[in-house]
Amino acid sequence: MGYASPLETRLAKKVTRAITEYQLVEDGDRVMVGLSGGKDSWALMQMLDVLRERAPIDFSIVAVNVDSGYEGYQYQQVADACRARGWELHRESTTIGAVIEDVLEPGATPCSLCARLRRGVLYRVADQVGATKIALGHHLDDFIETLLLNLFFAGALKAMPARLVSDNERHVVIRPLVYVTEAEARAYTRERELPVIGCCCPACGDLSLQRQRVKRLIVELEREHPAVKSSMIRALGNVMPRHLLDRRLNPSADLRSELGAHLAAVADLAPEQPLIPVLTSRLAPVSPPFVLPK
Ligand code: SF4
Repeated sequence: MGYASPLETRLAKKVTRAITEYQLVEDGDRVMVGLSGGKDSWALMQMLDVLRERAPIDFSIVAVNVDSGYEGYQYQQVADACRARGWELHRESTTIGAVIEDVLEPGATPCSLCARLRRGVLYRVADQVGATKIALGHHLDDFIETLLLNLFFAGALKAMPARLVSDNERHVVIRPLVYVTEAEARAYTRERELPVIGCCCPACGDLSLQRQRVKRLIVELEREHPAVKSSMIRALGNVMPRHLLDRRLNPSADLRSELGAHLAAVADLAPEQPLIPVLTSRLAPVSPPFVLPK
């Protein structure tokens, strides 16, 4: 069975690669897709459905829509599109919107609190619907933007994992679109005529200033270096702990500093004296200096 278009073929390859590399979907899985009705969640749902029909393994899919309770949210469009395609859909109505309004500081961006609350709901619903995996629609651009946001503004070298086991080990979150760009997800959703709806919250489409800046930076870099995104995503899979400064990753650094402290003590140095130049100056020559013949 062929794919519907060259774009679908490309996306199928990328998602299959992610599934294989990180064991995102396994035989017998019931994959729960967080389906907000945004372009990324539609692209994920459609692509998993396409792969399910062709995959050599058996797995089922259930879409879960977490309704945050904002006025005007067009849930019916999501329901109609799922019914037309024969997709199983579960609706979870919540008061996330009201909770955020109550607890958020004025001027703060609600998205990270919102994501955490929604994650909690998804974990609970996963148990109800018997899901073995929770699939989220984060794409390649989300991975590299998160990397740069943490690098520039949070003092941490981290992005997000393609597969994450929850702290209590009861849930597995997967991100099969890790190699799919935002532009590809948007184009695929449009090609498949899926109805993109907004979340209707006051912050909808309102990115934080830091995220906007990071997005602009990547666009600017991409103009000069078209492969910059693919280099960044490869970098996330090509970490060299010995070339970083985190001593938790590099215990030999501790050993070396212990050895350094020991040598300094033996050499009778004050702590602030640099070890190597002092020790070098005390070394006796092991052979006569080499003199060029005249
Ligand atoms: S835009 Fe609104 S609904 Fe979407 S993540 Fe942010 S707060 Fe939540």
